[in-house]
Amino acid sequence: MEDIRREALKWTLVNALEHRGKANLKAVVRKLVAELPGWRCKIGELSEIVRQEVAEVNAWSREEQLYQLRKIGPVERHKPRERRGLSELPDLDKYPMVVTRFAPNPNGPLHLGHVRTALLSHEYARRYKGKFILRFEDTNPENTLLEMYELIKRDLRWIGLSWDEEYAQSDRIELYYGYAERLIREGKAYICTCEVGRFRELRDRGEACPCRDLPGEEHLGRWERMLSGDFVKGEAVVRIKTDMKHPNPAVRDWSALRSVAKPHPRVGERYSVWPLYNFSAAIDDHEMGVTHVIRGKEHEVNEQRQRTLYKHLGWSYPTAVQHGRLAMLGVALSKTQTVRAVRGGELSGYDDVRLGTIAALRRRGFVSEAIRQLMLDIGLTLVDSSLSWETLCAYNRKFVDQIASRYFFVANPVELFVHNAPELKEARLRLHPNRPESSERILPLDRRGSTLVFHLSGEDAAALGEGQVFRLKDLMNVKLTKKGRSLEADFHSLEVADGPKLHWVSGGAVELEVIKPDNTLEHGLAEPAVAGLQIGTIVQFERYGFSRIDAVRPKLVAVYGHR
Ligand code: GLU
Repeated sequence: MEDIRREALKWTLVNALEHRGKANLKAVVRKLVAELPGWRCKIGELSEIVRQEVAEVNAWSREEQLYQLRKIGPVERHKPRERRGLSELPDLDKYPMVVTRFAPNPNGPLHLGHVRTALLSHEYARRYKGKFILRFEDTNPENTLLEMYELIKRDLRWIGLSWDEEYAQSDRIELYYGYAERLIREGKAYICTCEVGRFRELRDRGEACPCRDLPGEEHLGRWERMLSGDFVKGEAVVRIKTDMKHPNPAVRDWSALRSVAKPHPRVGERYSVWPLYNFSAAIDDHEMGVTHVIRGKEHEVNEQRQRTLYKHLGWSYPTAVQHGRLAMLGVALSKTQTVRAVRGGELSGYDDVRLGTIAALRRRGFVSEAIRQLMLDIGLTLVDSSLSWETLCAYNRKFVDQIASRYFFVANPVELFVHNAPELKEARLRLHPNRPESSERILPLDRRGSTLVFHLSGEDAAALGEGQVFRLKDLMNVKLTKKGRSLEADFHSLEVADGPKLHWVSGGAVELEVIKPDNTLEHGLAEPAVAGLQIGTIVQFERYGFSRIDAVRPKLVAVYGHR
């Protein structure tokens, strides 16, 4: 019965992955009957099993489906079509060269959603031997943070991205002013001083506000006054004229530039008028020759706004490629909340382990290859997907398992005295079990007369019972004789036997603090070799989890990643 469930799950997954995440009950049943003709006479029972599998699988995200399918192992016959890798970009024949860009706002740290957009844009530019641009959209002096430019670049480099050109919009303000003035002169934009609530009321009814049809001279005058700082925040905005009957009221006469009193962290008090996202981004996409704008579908209305500007200026809009939203399960904080908590000291930094930022993932020992692979597997789908930690960890495990050296670490250590032990001085263990060529690590034994002294993890110690024989992993079997605050045992034998195999530390063990995902600390002892590791090294503490060395002085600290 389990076998048939497994087969049903497998073919449901294959079918789902071939059909935009939604498996078709009949198709899966047909497939199963073809594969397992013996079930033809029990078609009712089979359909019921498949029905349950289809319901479950269809509720999963694509990456969850991919992950589950991989867990089952390779599928013989009919490999799902185009499971991996990215689809081709549209409109390739329209342009001599593909130009893409990533345009972050330097107002908070990058998370996986941003990296997905950045990676896709980069990947396509490289695939078609085109150009990839990094553009900081920093036209909001009120939330731009100076430290973010470098942090963002660091994260992007870490993920493996390189860019051919880099811009900050705060260097390009005169350019936007030029276009604003041109549009005002041509009667395609105007300056609105209406109270915003009033403007919206009229707009929602499809009516023009009193400013819209004032003479051109008046608007040019207002523009001059805006530039010389005569208006305070909220008093005047430049609006792009659109059809006041546009089906979406949010598109009608959208605002393009506004007065801001706050100095900008990069360029100071040089400007009192700042463009809003839709204006500067739209102009830059044209000016920078961007051919494919790859971004989240939450920008759909923005795209409609930007298209109206392109029409005014006689430009043709780049090919817009949208992708769905990617939610990270269990990561609750928004950018603004994160920034506030870091500034207020409630979080230790943008790499606080409780965050889902790229910096936090890096700190927890996630490797860029895993993140890249996962993001490319998710690809350019339009459907929203949610990403579980389980999937993220499974991707990472595939990579770190190959590279991480193994060490012993015991959390909340309990002392163990082993009496009548043979004359052993040390244990020599491999750094990596699957790599016979990997070098050895030496664990000296703490000998006091005929007694050897070890530490076990508190959890292991608690689970032992008097009289129990267990193995000190890769060393010897001992029999527990007494269990108190510390443990007493007698040497039993050397050869590997059934029973629990516990990791241990002995001579030269070093104190190590582990930062857990909820930012609590776990104290313990690690084998001596851990003291010699460099910051950033990803290790596997056996039977504990993958961790990354976070600090070596004054204390040895590791950050826990995952099992
Ligand atoms: N700065 C915008 C953002 O981060 C860019 C959107 C776009 O790609 O046009 O949301």
